Amino acid sequence: MTLWTDRVGPRTLDRLAGEVAPVDAPGVGAAAATGAGTSKATDERTSLTVEAPFTGEEIGAVPACDPADVEDAVRRARDAQHEWASLPLDRRTDVLSRFHDLVLDEREELLDLVAIESGKVRRDAFEEILDVATNARYYGSRAKEFLASRRRDGAMPLLTHTVEHRRPVGVVGVIAPWNYPLTLAVSDAIPALVAGNAVVLKPAEETPFTALRVAELLREAGLPDDVFQVVPGRGSEVGPALIDRVDHVSFTGSTETGRSVARRAGENLVDCSLELGGKNPMVVLADADLDDAVEGAVHGAFTNAGQLCISFERLYVEDGIYDAFLDRFAERTRSLRLDAALDYDVEVGSLASADQLEKVQAHLADAVEKGATVVAGGEARPDVGPYFFEPTILTGVAPEMDLASEETFGPVVAVHRVADAEEAVERANDSDYGLNASVWTGDGERGRELATRIDCGTVGVNDPYPATWASVDAPMGGMGDSGLGRRHGRQGLLKYTESQTVAEQRGPPIAVPRGVPGKWYARAMTAMMRVFKRVAEVR
Ligand code: NAD
Repeated sequence: MTLWTDRVGPRTLDRLAGEVAPVDAPGVGAAAATGAGTSKATDERTSLTVEAPFTGEEIGAVPACDPADVEDAVRRARDAQHEWASLPLDRRTDVLSRFHDLVLDEREELLDLVAIESGKVRRDAFEEILDVATNARYYGSRAKEFLASRRRDGAMPLLTHTVEHRRPVGVVGVIAPWNYPLTLAVSDAIPALVAGNAVVLKPAEETPFTALRVAELLREAGLPDDVFQVVPGRGSEVGPALIDRVDHVSFTGSTETGRSVARRAGENLVDCSLELGGKNPMVVLADADLDDAVEGAVHGAFTNAGQLCISFERLYVEDGIYDAFLDRFAERTRSLRLDAALDYDVEVGSLASADQLEKVQAHLADAVEKGATVVAGGEARPDVGPYFFEPTILTGVAPEMDLASEETFGPVVAVHRVADAEEAVERANDSDYGLNASVWTGDGERGRELATRIDCGTVGVNDPYPATWASVDAPMGGMGDSGLGRRHGRQGLLKYTESQTVAEQRGPPIAVPRGVPGKWYARAMTAMMRVFKRVAEVR
């Protein structure tokens, strides 16, 4: 019995494969992995084989959608969306409330699925459960306020009655990466759904089963058929087909792919939000609590084996604490427990694929060849699993090394000594990216002030990322090459709506009244403009 068959089971995988939106492809699911499927199942063109990174074995397959399938899914989503949007908001938030409870109830099975298809450890997968439940609760309770029609100042006080309404855009396409298969499948879809949109999700090729389980749970929570559909498939084929048909694209993935998504969305004149890569800095000041900073660095650099968009790959440590910090950080890093297991106690899991391992090794080899020193880790661990790599600390990283500025997206962090906080901020900002950062100090006020000078969309003070990420009432996203737009908060919902302004003029029109000489009108309006300005100034 393998790692997964006693936990998730082939029947579950078969059932989930049948959940793929419009495709009728027999012989997929777990059967395909065992060779029991039909020829269609093993046809690379029509199915996606899913591997368990912990062991490298194939666990199953799902149908691979093509552009015609995407067209069909979006058409059906469009049909279903009208009725969904016409339901009273309470009916839509009720679905979110039930979904929230189901995610918590089905926690253990979801964690198994996430861990099996992504290779992450259970404690990291659990962060995804918390995230999804938090978003469901937040948007369920705040949607009414965010979507309410609002009175706006009219053009002519008292005479113009102006109201801003919010309407769903229609069908939202969500394109997700593999590193957080649960969170990134649904947390950005939640505000889209509650706003009255339908969603068509393209999960990453590597992790479709979690997304399909989400579709099942949403339906169980009461979401009408076709309002949320999953179209697994190859990114270069299904991605553009989706972008060409939807009304908003919510993309999470690499900066390189994000640029092509933005170009295509721009051609189609549809809005897009882009959550992209990072090369995130952490700053440790001399007055920081050493133990807390070390734990923060371990959490911030090695969660999900470093395959986290907001994880740290650059550490800037003030001279006064540098040696003690590096010693303690290296010691703690060497002690981390790696394992290919599904229990909560394992600290570091696998990289997600052979490609990921290759990239991490290439970055490390380049750095070492150009003079970097490995202080901890540095080795692949095929004895644990085919794609395992030790959490790794480097010093002596210089600008000419690839990993100095490019995202590694693995458990490799460079530690730099800096003279003071000013140098730390300057070097933290020396990047094209601007996703997440953190500052560690014993002086919270100083930390908060420094944070505002770092060019990143989120900055934690004495916290690596959970405090900013989980503050879902506040926007989250990237500056520079790390993205466009924001998730979370009011913005995270309103981006899935069109605003509509309705203004009723209840008195004389805003035009030269009949029979009044234009010169008099201009004079009167000029005087009125001056009064309006005074009123605005004293308001
Ligand atoms: P990726 O860009 O390769 O793929 C992301 C998704 O885009 C996948 O579903 C893929 O199939 C699809 N895709 C591929 N080509 C496409 C195309 N031409 N058009 C449309 N879609 C296409 O990224 P990845 O390797 O899966 O994920 C890792 C990257 O994601 C890292 O750079 C990481 O930093 C980033 N990420 C960012 C965030 C964030 O919130 N900012 C969160 C997680 C991951």
